[in-house]
Order: sequence, then structure tokens, then C-alpha cells
Amino acid sequence: MVDVNLQHISKSYGDTNVIRDINLDIRDGERLVLLGPSGCGKSTILRMIAGFVPITSGDLLIDGSRVNELAPAKRQVSMVFQNYALYPHMTVKQNITYALKVHKVPADVIERRLAMVADFLELTPYFDRKPAELSGGQQQRVALARATVKSTSVFLLDEPLSNLDAQLRVAARESLMELHNRFKQTMVYVTHDQVEAMTFGTRIVLLRKGDIQMADTPENVYHRPANVFTARFIGSPPANILSGIRFADDRIDLGDGAGFYLFRNWRDLLGPALQGELHLGVRPEHVVVKTEPHPNSMPALVERLDNMGATTGIVLRVGNQHLVASSRFRRVEQGDRVHVSFYNDQLHFFGPDERSLGYPANVLAKKDALGRGEELARLIGADDAAQAREFDEYATSHAVGSSGSDPADRPSIGVPD
Ligand code: ADP
Repeated sequence: MVDVNLQHISKSYGDTNVIRDINLDIRDGERLVLLGPSGCGKSTILRMIAGFVPITSGDLLIDGSRVNELAPAKRQVSMVFQNYALYPHMTVKQNITYALKVHKVPADVIERRLAMVADFLELTPYFDRKPAELSGGQQQRVALARATVKSTSVFLLDEPLSNLDAQLRVAARESLMELHNRFKQTMVYVTHDQVEAMTFGTRIVLLRKGDIQMADTPENVYHRPANVFTARFIGSPPANILSGIRFADDRIDLGDGAGFYLFRNWRDLLGPALQGELHLGVRPEHVVVKTEPHPNSMPALVERLDNMGATTGIVLRVGNQHLVASSRFRRVEQGDRVHVSFYNDQLHFFGPDERSLGYPANVLAKKDALGRGEELARLIGADDAAQAREFDEYATSHAVGSSGSDPADRPSIGVPD
């Protein structure tokens, strides 16, 4: 077991504090991704673990021992750099085995490890080439091989794929995942790319200005963002954050008379927290856009359409707010007046301090439904019988032009009218 523990770690350059008292337990065998915008401190954390950057205060433990002052070579870690840092005058084989030779590993052990790793990363045919005679993807694999061959338990990767083009990046990420499945090292991976973080990480640590904003599984970071920053950073397009909203008469008021009825599950949870101004997060795929009024819908104007390949981003004005819906079908045009609603179980409320106000128990209990777009598409609003009845009552009496239709027959994104 090799865990890495960061306990109250801070880092300052002069008077500038770039890492602020962070606590993080990196577990044996996990693929942990340090994610965040440029300058948030990802590389600094990685380099402190590697031993290249001195720690200002706090304790760094590897495998239970404090290693703050230990030289990088003695830390059981290997690091893959963004620019690969291969030795240009050495062949591929020499690059991969150099560190083992320096550490006087017996020749037969070196050969055995080399064969295994090079075969796995398909590098054997290039043993005699120099780095300049390799493509970017091959150089990247040599850098991975060089780190893997050392058999260290913790693998530190600093934006290792950022020099590759998009296609190669996907292939290289797959090699990395296979490498992890095969050798089970603890991996700490730095990236500013949230898609890469979501696909690679078993856990994501999202950083902002040297602080941890959230450390959780990709699913929870996406579906249960701890704060507004996380909701905005994760997802493409990111979650809509509607600010300055108010709650009154069982409705969420989006300004200019637009609003929607809030189900009892949310009202019961949020209670007094619903006083004052709030932030509401809703992901583009959880915004329903219809040409006709429907239960709990609000009138909206289509301001713009953004082509996003498989989906279309529909930029809407609802009340005083602007928001984006994503749809697999392009059934509206710029300037159209449409009607929008939100999935009741896919709302995110944040208080004035921008922290999450939590989720109703029945929403949390539906974890298994998370991420299954098809299923979610059917789950607009009413998600259990009691709610459905409540919804129906409301729809009949409140919704603009609504016929109070059967909640089981809710309109949804992608289902033609
Ligand atoms: P990231 O990897 O998230 O882009 P870094 O860890 O490289 O961010 O940097 C975090 C912050 O520390 C940045 O504001 C950066 O300017 C600052 N920083 C990094 N290295 C130094 C240094 N040697 N001297 C002063 N400031 C530094």
C-alpha cells in the first residue's frame, strides 16, 4: 500500500501564498486528477510531491513516512513532464533504462523490465532511434516507459498529453489507462482540461487559487457540485448559473415575471435557506425547450444557436436571465419564442456564499440514474407518484396555456412534438 498524504500543506513564494493549507489523502492505486485553471497551483502540488519544489509548511507523507526533506530520487515517485524531458543524445532504449543503470539495478532485471514495458507500450521497434527521430506520440510513450520501468509506486504526470494532437491524445490516454490497469500504480495527473479529467480520473481534485474547491468522483463533481465554481468549471458547455433569483409563493422567480414552481422536496430541504438571493445551477442538457407551453414551463426567447457538433446549443433569454440549453435536434431558430422547463431532479441551489445548499433525499437516492441521458430525458419534473400528483395540481392551475397533461407524458428534449 502506498498512500500519499498532504497535511496542511502550504506553499509561498516570498509573500505570495500559492497553495493554502490543503489536506488531501491520495489513496493507493487511484487515478487522482488535479484540475483547475492555469495558475491555480496544480503543478506546484505535483512538484512538491515529487520533491522538486520545497514545501513551505505542512507535512507530506508517502507510505506513512514524512518525506518533506527527502531527495526526489528517494521518494518512490516517478514523474512524466509535459515536454517529456527525454535525453536527446540517447537512444530510446538508453532513455528508458538510464535511471535504472544509475541506481545500479542488475542488468538482467533491467532487461526484463525493459522488455515488459517496451512491449506493452509498443516501443521495441524504436529502441535504437533518438528522440528527434520519433513522433510526438512515440516520444510521449518513451517518457511513460521511462517512468514505468522504475517500478515506483507513485506516478506523477504533469499535463503529459498536452503536446499531442486531439486524436493522439485519446489514444495516449487509453495507453495510460491500460498502463494503470496493468501496473496499478497510484497516479496523480495534472490537467486544466476538464474532459480529460472526467475521462481519466477515478477522483478529481478541483483547485482554484491554491484552494481545493471539491475532491470527489467525476460523477459527483458533475452531478453534485459543491459550489458555483465547480458547476461552472465542469461540463461543456458549463452549467448555467442563474444568479439573483428569489423564492416566493412556492415559485422560483427568475425576474421579469418568469419563474417556475418548486416541488415540495426542494422546499422542504431548503426551507429558510430559500430566503434572500440565491444561485440556481442547471446544466444545458437538463433544460427542456419546446415550442409549446408545457407544465411548469416559462416563456423564453431564442437569442442564438451554437453548433456544437452532435448537439446544438440554444442560447435563451428567460426572465432576466440568459441560459444555454443543449439539444440533439435543431428544431428552433434564432428569434423564436419558445417555452423552457428544468428537470426537477437536476437542479443545483447555491446560497449567497456560492456553496451548495444540498439535495433532497429522493434526488440523492437516484444516484443510479445519474449520467443515463436517455433515462433522464424522461424524468422531467415529476419523479415519484406524490410529486406527479403535486405537479399535476400545479400544472392544471398555474402553467401558461397548460392542459394539465399526464405527468408521465412529459415532453422532453429529443422527443419530437
Ligand atoms: P498551474 O500548474 O495550476 O498552472 P502553478 O502551480 O504552475 O499553476 O503555479 C501556481 C502559482 O504559483 C502561479 O500563480 C504561479 O505564477 C506561481 N509560481 C509558480 N512558480 C513560481 C516561482 N518559482 N516563483 C514565483 N511564483 C511562482
